[in-house]
Amino acid sequence: MKINVLTLFPDFIEQGLHTSILGRACEKGLLSCNVVNIRDYSNDKNGRVDDYTYGGGAGMLMQAQPVYDAYKAVENASLKNNCEGENHRIRTIYVTPQGKPFTQKDALNLAKEDELVFLCGHYEGIDERVLEEIVTDRYSIGDYVLTGGELPALVMIDAVSRLIPGVLGNEVSADIESFYGDLLEYPQYTRPEVWNGMSVPGVLLKGNPKEVNAWRKEKAEELTEKVRPDLFEKYKQREHYIKELLKDKRNNIQMLESLRRGTGEIINTDPLVIYMACDDLVMVDINRKMDVDEFLSLLPDGVHSIVVGQEFGDILKDVEGIHKSCDVYNYVYTENVHRKIVNKDIRLLTEEYADYVGTHYELAGYDYAVEKVREGIVYGIFVDNEIAGFIGTHGEGSIGMLYIDERFRRRGLAADLESFMFNRDLEAGRTPYGQVIIDNVNSIKLQEKMGVYGGDKILTWLHL
Ligand code: SAM
Repeated sequence: MKINVLTLFPDFIEQGLHTSILGRACEKGLLSCNVVNIRDYSNDKNGRVDDYTYGGGAGMLMQAQPVYDAYKAVENASLKNNCEGENHRIRTIYVTPQGKPFTQKDALNLAKEDELVFLCGHYEGIDERVLEEIVTDRYSIGDYVLTGGELPALVMIDAVSRLIPGVLGNEVSADIESFYGDLLEYPQYTRPEVWNGMSVPGVLLKGNPKEVNAWRKEKAEELTEKVRPDLFEKYKQREHYIKELLKDKRNNIQMLESLRRGTGEIINTDPLVIYMACDDLVMVDINRKMDVDEFLSLLPDGVHSIVVGQEFGDILKDVEGIHKSCDVYNYVYTENVHRKIVNKDIRLLTEEYADYVGTHYELAGYDYAVEKVREGIVYGIFVDNEIAGFIGTHGEGSIGMLYIDERFRRRGLAADLESFMFNRDLEAGRTPYGQVIIDNVNSIKLQEKMGVYGGDKILTWLHL
């Protein structure tokens, strides 16, 4: 990801960006940073960038012209301009106390962009006219006023960057932290076992994974209820719907897992409608339909896909701007045991295989497949060091994109790849599942062989 920061204090930003995990991400090329000094674009001979506010009031305001020219310089050098030859709008964030409160969900959403611009205000802020001209999003990092936008920009850059695959080094660690699943994180301990007369809780020393998980959940609940009753309410609502969805697990696994993994947000309860910001996706209870206008009014900005029961899908496909993509069945791995893998040469695919995956994965197209490789969620299986096929995880969490090269079929490689993905999900405490197009006989046969159970209701995918 390329991050541009427009600021009057470039050293402040540079120092933050080149320290610790962010610094390493820059060195590894996962992040590239371009810090622009707004003062360099002042037309004033003394480099002045501020002036008095019209209508009076204490303090100075940053003028429109230097901010606009600094932004234009970034836009001209933008990745989007260079790669696509067109003038696409880069998401440009003005950090301001008047913005929307910045949350983990916003971080997930911004982490999907290739490039961002952060605009840091100073003094009393910035002339509104230039904000209207260049800014796409306004975010606040909290209900207090800081002297400048540098700290808020660094806070947001930190929260977004650590969600970029490879930045943390350990993919799972970002999944299980505070604000995923509406619970704050449980207390943690490291050596020594006794410090200042206080011991590490016994359950953690015994190391029984089930007991450890139960203890952590209890502590997380206690803490959240005490310090964040607002979040705890959301958590209780989530737990309630998880129980409801479990009654029809195979048909509703996509909604169930989004609540369990903390990636889905309930935006309507009757019928249940869940929004997944990380995949621009909205899902409706498979057994329900609703008034079309009411449903459309629920859709958050930027929603790209909709997953509903077939009956509601048949109604939505006739709505202008919505087109049907496919009908699928859910397949759910229910065994809760790891599967054996015969061919063990399975590797996370890197950029060098992006074209291979893009060329061979037909369902969602070349660009989609390449993006998944870049996100670090496609695995390849190799025979004598040659790639023989691949598998991945779709944005909403289902296992898919399975492909085995013609020359390597009928050797059990597909089963090995699926087993690998099942084991990976199980280790992370997730229920593995996939979706199969209703007439894909080969895939259905494979699922049955793998002991994966199918739903009996058809789900329809639609795109906007
Ligand atoms: N006059 C502004 C007001 O009352 O809302 C405050 C301006 S503040 C002193 C200067 C700059 O700091 C702002 O333009 C903004 O970029 C940044 N800033 C201050 N507090 C912030 C917060 N809580 N979240 C995000 N940005 C903030």
